[in-house]
Amino acid sequence: MSSTVISDIAQLVTNDPSLGDESPLGLVRDAAVVIEGDRVVWTGESSKAPPTDNRVDAGGRAVVPGFVDSHSHLVFAGDRTEEFNARMSGRPYSAGGIRTTVAATRAASDAELEANLTRHLAEALRQGTTTFETKSGYGLTTADEARALRLAARHTDEVTFLGAHIVAPEYAGDPAAYVDLVTGEMLDACAPHARWIDVFCEEGAFDGDQARAILTAGRAKGLHPRVHANQLTYGPGVRLAVELDAASADHCTHLGDTDVDALASGRTVATLLPGAEFSTRAEWPDARRLLDAGVTVALSTDCNPGSSFTSSVPFCVALAVRDMGMTPDEAVWSATAGGAAALRRTDIGRLTPGAYADLTLLDAPSHVHLAYRPGVPLVAGVWRRGVREV
Ligand SMILES: [Zn+2]
Repeated sequence: MSSTVISDIAQLVTNDPSLGDESPLGLVRDAAVVIEGDRVVWTGESSKAPPTDNRVDAGGRAVVPGFVDSHSHLVFAGDRTEEFNARMSGRPYSAGGIRTTVAATRAASDAELEANLTRHLAEALRQGTTTFETKSGYGLTTADEARALRLAARHTDEVTFLGAHIVAPEYAGDPAAYVDLVTGEMLDACAPHARWIDVFCEEGAFDGDQARAILTAGRAKGLHPRVHANQLTYGPGVRLAVELDAASADHCTHLGDTDVDALASGRTVATLLPGAEFSTRAEWPDARRLLDAGVTVALSTDCNPGSSFTSSVPFCVALAVRDMGMTPDEAVWSATAGGAAALRRTDIGRLTPGAYADLTLLDAPSHVHLAYRPGVPLVAGVWRRGVREV
């Protein structure tokens, strides 16, 4: 197995507090990383790096762990340009929202769906994302949900069954029957292709009792819970997520003190998705409040064609710093180690021996530039599993 050193890194984010400046980012200056096969085998000061077969000169630029985008919806067809344009132009628009994407997704071929998925994955990779989670949720029939998960599983291990995105249009008059379908035949067909089960617990989607039934049924089939919680209104989603030991409660925009206390007392990560608030001109989640309470926070894109059509984690980092009270260090941690925590992974989101060699070289001397230079394409190189992809 050949080894490669990436040397002359001005600032290396390791996310190991025992290294470098001993901050949560474990920031090492004048650093090097040694890769062997698909793993990191050494991290430290450049001058102390062991001999290797190959060498890449980072040229005094910064390196961060590859971004871990722990929340996206990438198996879909069509787009919702008109809906976005109307919303941002203050014009009424009464098309079907998620239902529009459901209709387009059902009508698409497997090849079309997979081509769309791979196009968005390539786009995310170019922006430094090396791990992504993605969900079903635009099929809402047993066959269409299972198809979405099968396609997603060809590209990532982090696949989430979201049959409970909204009540399928065919069941609009009988939501209880749809919950029966999701927890029965649809779950049986989908569980073999997924690691996670998710539910949109929100007014107009699924209430607390329905969400509990869905997540509990999923858990009985070996899927672990995550929850779309408290995005549009206050509700039971966050507390339910903590109660069921969900890996993550996602959105967390409308939180009462009991929700914050619940998150602080459990190990459920709060995943914040500022692309959604940006694209809907909604109120920002209060990251500062969560961090000050001791909650673990992840930052992800929520990439989807309706409410957050961005695959850019750097964009979300910039928003989190500008509008959600996060420091640049916190936002970079949340987009890497935080995402890994939201997927209950310790082999990604950090650059220390044993972790996957997933790393992003920035065309900047510091990770702070991710927020300091918003909208600028700063990603100069991406290694995934030890292979340079960008
Ligand atoms: Zn989502």
